[in-house]
Amino acid sequence: MSDIIQLLPDHVANQIAAGEVVQRPASVVKELLENAIDASATNIKLIIKEAGKTLVQVIDNGKGMSQTDARLSFERHATSKIKKAEDLFNLQTKGFRGEALASIAAIAHVDLKTKQENSELGSYIKIEGSKVISQENIGTSIGTSIAVKNLFYNIPARRNFLKSNTIETRHIVNEFQRVALAHPSISFSFYHNENEIYNLVASNLRKRIVAIFGKKTNEKLVPIKEVTDIVEINGYVAKPEFAKKKRGEQFFFVNDRFIKNAYLNHAVTSAFESLLSNGFHPTYFLYLTVPTKSIDINIHPTKTEIKFEDEKTLYAILRSTIKHSLGQYNVAPVLDFERSASFDTPYEFKNKKSTTPSINVDQNFNPFKAETQKPLNSPFKKETSAQWESLYTEIDLDKIEVKSETINPSMFSEEKQNSKTYQVHNKYIVSSIKSGIVYINQNLAHQRILYEEFLENITVKDAMSQQLLFPLEISFNKSDIELIKDIKEDLENVGFLFDKILDDTIVVKGMPVTIVESQITIIIEQLLEDIKNDIPDASFSQLDIMAKSLAKSLAIKTGSKLDLKEQEELVNKLFSCKQPDLSPFRKTTFVTINIDEIDKKFNN
Ligand code: ADP
Ligand code: MG
Repeated sequence: MSDIIQLLPDHVANQIAAGEVVQRPASVVKELLENAIDASATNIKLIIKEAGKTLVQVIDNGKGMSQTDARLSFERHATSKIKKAEDLFNLQTKGFRGEALASIAAIAHVDLKTKQENSELGSYIKIEGSKVISQENIGTSIGTSIAVKNLFYNIPARRNFLKSNTIETRHIVNEFQRVALAHPSISFSFYHNENEIYNLVASNLRKRIVAIFGKKTNEKLVPIKEVTDIVEINGYVAKPEFAKKKRGEQFFFVNDRFIKNAYLNHAVTSAFESLLSNGFHPTYFLYLTVPTKSIDINIHPTKTEIKFEDEKTLYAILRSTIKHSLGQYNVAPVLDFERSASFDTPYEFKNKKSTTPSINVDQNFNPFKAETQKPLNSPFKKETSAQWESLYTEIDLDKIEVKSETINPSMFSEEKQNSKTYQVHNKYIVSSIKSGIVYINQNLAHQRILYEEFLENITVKDAMSQQLLFPLEISFNKSDIELIKDIKEDLENVGFLFDKILDDTIVVKGMPVTIVESQITIIIEQLLEDIKNDIPDASFSQLDIMAKSLAKSLAIKTGSKLDLKEQEELVNKLFSCKQPDLSPFRKTTFVTINIDEIDKKFNN
């Protein structure tokens, strides 16, 4: 048999390798920003168009490249950053694989302009799909500009996999923020479709955090500092009362490189212990400096994971440092700290007294009861309170139009006279039905009800809004403001009214009737987080994400006591839903137990 193995041509090999490095426009942003930092730039400008799909350009004032290097930089495994295998364990740079530019050039149109300090002329190279189209000498400023156009132009399948501009932009903003947070002494600017998104001057860490996340952030930050033999820890955590429902702002940097590490994240979270109510995540910006030899960053092509030599000790130090700072900054009333062996670290905190702050959490908080006394209010029905009353007076289960397969209209009929409902454990509503018993999960059922109301309303545009007595100012960072502008119309359709949307603040003058004023901020924040994270199981529609997010935020919670009228109304409304049996996140909202099954239990 003849031989059949061939070496792949370079451009094919590069295209395959590109798949590892470049998943989306944000990957290009990361690689180009990191190259600029490795080139010792002090000023870096990022320009994107159409969420990076048509253009990602990075302009730096770094050391530039010689003519030969400029050409070589696009070869695979061409790097100026390491020379031998041992260098891998003493990395001082972000890059080291020499793959990024080769990969990017394989799947896009690339224009490179670069000049070194002492050269008179710079180089201008155009490459398309790994092919050099032209190379010439030009006059240009010191540093490097790389423009990456039409990403995936030659791989339509990859291009089609890209998500909406909102989501791709979000990924880019994330990468930009990570790099900008890791290097506060470098100035960065960021333009999207000619709009300035960020303009960050060279500053210190605290100012950089505030410049990115908005001026209100400043008062939230508690400084963290500890120096030991194996690690130096710097940075900030946000006071517990500013914790978020989604793990949005959590940043670890190790030797100025953004990393993700679930184990260390656990150390931080556990330092907050009882300070956070269930489901809330702390905000943190933590910078660890460790000897380069004690970490291995060579385990993942996109390099957000690294291995530590002594993770256990790091865990202990991190946890106790944060615990200590939270106590020292008196973030909450302080109780005596009972020392437990598990908090011990191999390091002495001389003269530092550890304390555990205490906090009160209202487990029974019910947004529908707390202030407005509007049980299960719907944002869309324009009933007066008298009409509401009449809705409650008699539950007429016969009239319920049921559209699910598992329940049919006659299900309740025989039980009409004793169509009583009961609440069990402030969690389930139980009712007798023709075939037996139905158990309804109050939280999930209400999510379904609200979800359908929101969806209907977003299309029908008939929401009830309540005017706020005093317009409410809420500050957001610039990229969140952009997102709010994107979804403004949808928000108005569900009942929000905006007075102004400024650069870093929105002024809300009306809100859906279901919302309690004290919750507006958290609900909008949650919504933005959900859209940014494109919550799992969401369809691609932003409207749908929004309806789900609001339904989840606003639904009555497990643990809320409901009176009889509220229970009945919940049952009523659930079974008039189009799909009563599932929550918007596809969890079962009710179960039925057949009378036969109950009978069987007695026939033993
Ligand atoms: P790596 O960063 O892993 O070395 P890249 O493909 O990203 O690989 O870059 C290849 C080489 O091109 C780098 O090692 C560096 O010498 C050079 N280079 C890339 N970008 C720049 C830049 N902005 N300024 C100066 N040199 C650069
Ligand atoms: Mg690189």
